[in-house]
Amino acid sequence: MPQKISHIGIAVHDIEEAAKFYTEVLGLELGGVEEVPDQKVKVAFLPIGEVRIELVQPTSPDSPVAKFLEKSGPGFHHIAYQVEDTGAEVERMLGDGVRMVDQKPRGGAHNTRIAFVHPKASGGVLTELVQEMGHG
Ligand code: ZN
Repeated sequence: MPQKISHIGIAVHDIEEAAKFYTEVLGLELGGVEEVPDQKVKVAFLPIGEVRIELVQPTSPDSPVAKFLEKSGPGFHHIAYQVEDTGAEVERMLGDGVRMVDQKPRGGAHNTRIAFVHPKASGGVLTELVQEMGHG
């Protein structure tokens, strides 16, 4: 069972451009930018309380996020729940017949293990499970 919201993912064309609203208008701090080659994206985290806003920019035209931007334009992309064990959650969900994008966990930004639930299984909301692996 998820313990809390980890982050909220926003699809953007350009992180630097999109971050201006969050830093200059809202006054949040940009927590650094990281590339996730696995998902062909670049992500920027802006912490707010226990949650983070995650700006996601595709680094390749065949990135799923590039396809999302093409279809829907920039905006809300996914919600991420923090879990203790992504692998166990995926197995439990698959066992319950829940449709998953990822059949097993993969590496995410900032040393995490992640998996996506298919939006068809979650009322149209792309849902990410995140396990923090700690630092180092
Ligand atoms: Zn995410």
